Amino acid sequence: MRHSQIRLVLVSVVFCILFIAGCANSDAGTPAAQDDKGSNDNGSMVSFVCVGDNLIHEQIWRCHEKDADGRYNFDDLYAPVKELVSGADVAFVNQETVCGGEALTLSDWPRFNSPQEILDALAGTGFNWISTANNHALDRGEAGIRAQIDYLSKIGGVTQTGTHDSLDDSKTPRILSINGVRVGIASYTYGTNGIAPPPGEEYLVDVIDDAKIRADMGALTKESDIQIVAMHWGDENSFEPTDEQKRLAQMLADTGVDVVIGTHPHVIQAPVVLRGAAGNTTLVYYSLGNFMSSQTEPDQMLGAMARFSIEYDALAGSVKLLGAEALPLVTHISSDYQTYAVYPMSDYTEELAGDHALAAKGLLLDSLSSRVREIFGDDKGWEYHSKP
Ligand SMILES: [Zn+2]
Repeated sequence: MRHSQIRLVLVSVVFCILFIAGCANSDAGTPAAQDDKGSNDNGSMVSFVCVGDNLIHEQIWRCHEKDADGRYNFDDLYAPVKELVSGADVAFVNQETVCGGEALTLSDWPRFNSPQEILDALAGTGFNWISTANNHALDRGEAGIRAQIDYLSKIGGVTQTGTHDSLDDSKTPRILSINGVRVGIASYTYGTNGIAPPPGEEYLVDVIDDAKIRADMGALTKESDIQIVAMHWGDENSFEPTDEQKRLAQMLADTGVDVVIGTHPHVIQAPVVLRGAAGNTTLVYYSLGNFMSSQTEPDQMLGAMARFSIEYDALAGSVKLLGAEALPLVTHISSDYQTYAVYPMSDYTEELAGDHALAAKGLLLDSLSSRVREIFGDDKGWEYHSKP
């Protein structure tokens, strides 16, 4: 367990202040209502932060110099969001480009291969769940996947889902143990850009398939209290989820998944809360947009950070979504393409926007805000309050 009880209490307090209208009252000593049972038991609460595609284009490493040891340091890319990320019990990111390292020769689109120090920077920022199931997973074949898995296992403290180095590994459910709560995690991609795994090694990447997902969820649910699934799906540059995203989201809700984290469209899509077949609640973030990239359109600079907390009542075996939000993020690229960093939009200034490489293409703080309002319903982002 990487977080102290003290940090959990702090996070819990923040979530209470932000989300739960009745929280102050029950904390003040009024008799807890039946459905508040356990809400003061911090040991049963888990907080999450999730972001979208970490898409490492060539210019992002070209503008970084190696240190004396011949290694890159990419901590600056994520420094403005570090506090938010490291404060959560579980922090998720989709590593869109395979980090096979320089031994496999670094490369840009269409077949990416990124420096492995990107993974160090993500871990150092506080991400402890990295999904590698996406359409670029096989860009550098089996070698890229194996190199990335090896590197991540050496970093430690990070659980990877979505790619595997053996059939056995692909059948082993991934469980994070957070303050006594078992969080089951998995991730899937719609495909791998037409690159097939070597025959007999289909286990390398977890590809979306209803029967496989249902079987995996059966196994995962037996071993975990909360289930969170990341889906790489949808149409690029679409603000609307496709019918297939909606169908899969309902299928996941019906299998009892608590939260679905969507990535791939490179732009944000509005989250929803679905009802599953058993009357359960499933929070679905259809798309969190990009986290980091050197893409070329203003809307691709606008991402979101999903934040939610879930309470698990071990006695009742019940799960409760306490509150959720989507905070807008802005990927900053300086006009000389020498500086990249991702900011909470609330910290992004007119001055920074004025120096954005895409300012000439119409990127303005105002236009980003109006897109946030259009998709999330409010300039500040999207919020969900559970019923008291
Ligand atoms: Zn993708």
